[in-house]
Amino acid sequence: MIAMAVANNPELLVADEPTTALDVTVQAQIMRMLRDLKEKLGLALILITHDLGVVAGHADRVAVIYAGLVVEEAEVRELFANPRHPYTRGLIDSIPKLTASNEKLYSIPGAPPMLGALPEGCAFHPRCGFAQDICRKAAPPVIELGRHRAACHFAESLPSWDGAGRTAQAEERGNG
Ligand code: SF4
Repeated sequence: MIAMAVANNPELLVADEPTTALDVTVQAQIMRMLRDLKEKLGLALILITHDLGVVAGHADRVAVIYAGLVVEEAEVRELFANPRHPYTRGLIDSIPKLTASNEKLYSIPGAPPMLGALPEGCAFHPRCGFAQDICRKAAPPVIELGRHRAACHFAESLPSWDGAGRTAQAEERGNG
């Protein structure tokens, strides 16, 4: 499939979940092949994946999508070091940590909405530990923070990111 995809020397290759259901060894081979093709053929690669490890290891720039909309976009290091959208923080919190011993694995509460019946205001508000009244009424604007963008009313004023647990702590405080 990859050979067919590059047979016509495309300028852009869209790889949708290219490593799903592969074991880690084959996954590494596929990602190495895609990287080599990208460099040799000079093509741009859009990688669509749920695997944040693949994102961290292979992406230059990341767009996080929730309910069909890009809710955050930034260079990969900036995104993981300083996420400015609560959904992105929840995704990063959900990554299993080798250092955690008996801690329950975090997951974002609730479930994604039906795309035909999105909640009013911010589509993420029923699941967001930082939601306030405005989030239930008005769709958030895209806030520009240099080359980093986030669609959240509080993208500039969220507590600074200190890694795992921040989102969970906000929920325990009852901010939702
Ligand atoms: S706009 Fe409100 S509900 Fe939506 S992500 Fe930001 S804080 Fe949460």
